[in-house]
Amino acid sequence: MYTVFAGGVGASRFLQGLVQAADPAGVTVISNTGDDVDLYGVHVSPDTDIVLYALAGAVNPETGWGLAGDTFNVVDQLQRFGYDRWFNLGDRDFAMALHRTTLLRQGVPLHEITAQLARAWGLGCTVLPMSNEPVRTRIFGPDGEIPFQDYMVRLRTDVEVRDVQFAGVGEARPAPGVIEAIRDAKAVILAPSNPFVSIGPILAVPGVRAALESTRAVRVAISPIIAGQVVKGPAAKMLQSLGHEVSALGVARIYAGLVDLMVIDEQDRALVPRVEALGMRCLVTDTMMTSAERKAELARDVLAALEPRP
Ligand code: GDP
Repeated sequence: MYTVFAGGVGASRFLQGLVQAADPAGVTVISNTGDDVDLYGVHVSPDTDIVLYALAGAVNPETGWGLAGDTFNVVDQLQRFGYDRWFNLGDRDFAMALHRTTLLRQGVPLHEITAQLARAWGLGCTVLPMSNEPVRTRIFGPDGEIPFQDYMVRLRTDVEVRDVQFAGVGEARPAPGVIEAIRDAKAVILAPSNPFVSIGPILAVPGVRAALESTRAVRVAISPIIAGQVVKGPAAKMLQSLGHEVSALGVARIYAGLVDLMVIDEQDRALVPRVEALGMRCLVTDTMMTSAERKAELARDVLAALEPRP
């Protein structure tokens, strides 16, 4: 069994490859819910939905989020009534959020809802939210707190991040199945996701980090930074403003002690000795997932590099 800690776009690309390289029935995704937000009267789980849509082959390939060919009539209409339209929720995407919200109001726990949604999309793998309790990522800039989706969408991450916190995490528990998925996996893979706002919230849920520290699984991380740059998103800016080196080495340092195998790009080959000096093996391969073939090849490379831990 392979367990993957997942954010949104970077994670979903890797997962599309993993389910080609391995039997989907043996893949469990632990999804970041720190980005979840109540908007337009519905509960939106941006990262979970990106993963579900990508694995269903329905994600918008141009944006990496939302559904291919979706329309935006509902948010357009809401604008007429004075709603702020900065968060683009497509009509079919809205249906998913509406259904999730209805079930939440009926008291159905988020992990059951997520499993139901995954079944409705015909997925063969297991998708678990990191927690059923609300955990909300909080971004602090020079002038104080900025609501997460404001930071990501409205301000287009154009703010110097001074701190990242996870509101509610103290009271959160891992969703049913999360600890078992870490404990019983052959490998736990930290997807090429943002270390601070995608993987960070999952690691912050009480019990998750300890489970990762004590599992017999091979622990793998794939760098979202290639040649000192992100493919997309604010990870590089965050590494810099939070005092880390903006490179695959900077990412490896964040995961030191939690990871046995660090996967970095060919372009970063020169970093191998310094990554290995952190006490992890290093796999160098092409990590730029530009096509379905490249996604599957990366997953195959990662699986082939798994070695039982000493
Ligand atoms: P978000 O929640 O949608 O921002 O998604 P993630 O946190 O999962 O992914 C964002 C990260 O994915 C960024 O830091 C990107 O650099 C990284 N990423 C996206 N595509 C690729 C890719 O093809 N290869 C690698 N190595 N990283 C990628």
